[in-house]
Amino acid sequence: MVMDTPHAVRNETVAQVPAGSLPDDAIRARLLEARNALIGGLESRLAEVPTEPSGVSDGWGETEHLTLAEQAELTVHLDWMAQAALGEIEAAFERLDAGTYGYCVTCGDAIGAERLEALPAAAHCVNCQQHQEGSR
Ligand SMILES: [Zn+2]
Repeated sequence: MVMDTPHAVRNETVAQVPAGSLPDDAIRARLLEARNALIGGLESRLAEVPTEPSGVSDGWGETEHLTLAEQAELTVHLDWMAQAALGEIEAAFERLDAGTYGYCVTCGDAIGAERLEALPAAAHCVNCQQHQEGSR
C-alpha cells in the first residue's frame, strides 16, 4: 500500500535508508499494527471466554464445538503466544531506538528485507532461527 508518492522519486534522494530496508517510520507503523492486532485479539478472546456454562439452550450438544476446558486451554496457549509476540514487538521497538533493528541479535548479520517484511519483529536471521528451532 502506497499512501503518498512524492512527485518524483529521485535515485539520489533515497538517502539514509540501508539497501533493502524499510524506513523507520514504516517499520514502526508495521510493528504498531502488529501490536494492535495482538492486543485486539487478546481482548476479543478475553471477552469470549465463557465464565459459566449457562445458556446452552439448543439441543445440539455434540462434539462440533470444543469443550469449555479445551477452549480455555487453547485460549491460555494463544495468549501465551500473543504475550511472547508482544514481547518481541517491544524488543523490536527497542532495537529501532538503539539502531540495531534488522540485525540478528545472535550473530549480528542482517536479517534480510524479505524476512522483516514477513516478520517485522524478527530478532534472528533465518540461520539462527533454524538453529534454535532445530536444536533438540
Ligand atoms: Zn543470526
